[in-house]
Amino acid sequence: MNRIETVSAQQLPYTFRPGCPVAVRDLAEVTFDHLGFNGAQHEGRIIVHQAIAGAFLEAMAAARDLGFPIRQAVPIDDAAFRGDDEASMAADNSSGFNYRTIAGTDTVSMHALGLAVDINPVLNPYLAHDGVWYPEATHIERVTRPGVFTSDHPLTAAFIELGFEWGGSWDRPDYHHFQWAGPLPGPRYLRPGAPQ
Ligand SMILES: [Zn+2]
Repeated sequence: MNRIETVSAQQLPYTFRPGCPVAVRDLAEVTFDHLGFNGAQHEGRIIVHQAIAGAFLEAMAAARDLGFPIRQAVPIDDAAFRGDDEASMAADNSSGFNYRTIAGTDTVSMHALGLAVDINPVLNPYLAHDGVWYPEATHIERVTRPGVFTSDHPLTAAFIELGFEWGGSWDRPDYHHFQWAGPLPGPRYLRPGAPQ
């Protein structure tokens, strides 16, 4: 089933914390069907800002149409991760909202606004400020392979068409990261002090 639902603070005990720049009523849980690496269909759940929930659902429809497999998508608040982004990445888990700063910096991440998603992080790692690839460096080569994003992959193109920017095109690549590139949600959606 593919659907968009509201969430409560109780559902987000680890990722929704004091000072979070987005109100919990403006977040949404997107449930979507996706292909797994075993060829079977699975159900994934990712929390994003409601302003981009529809676009993200369309991206997941494109993933299905293209036969692009996703390892798993379990909210980082679930017992498996308890808000631990590194543990989530290491499990090749796909995720969205998480109130946190960009690793190694004081900058609030687009994930803190629910305006970014990470897909298949082990197959699509990122190069951090410290010069280390996370969660691991096994798959830093961009090759045509199931679940791997490349600059000319049709799913990368679909995300961009839907309004996202791909972190894989940055000087310090973040191959699993897609963030909203359109207008930011207005004042109704963001708390005072949120990055604009
Ligand atoms: Zn990310």
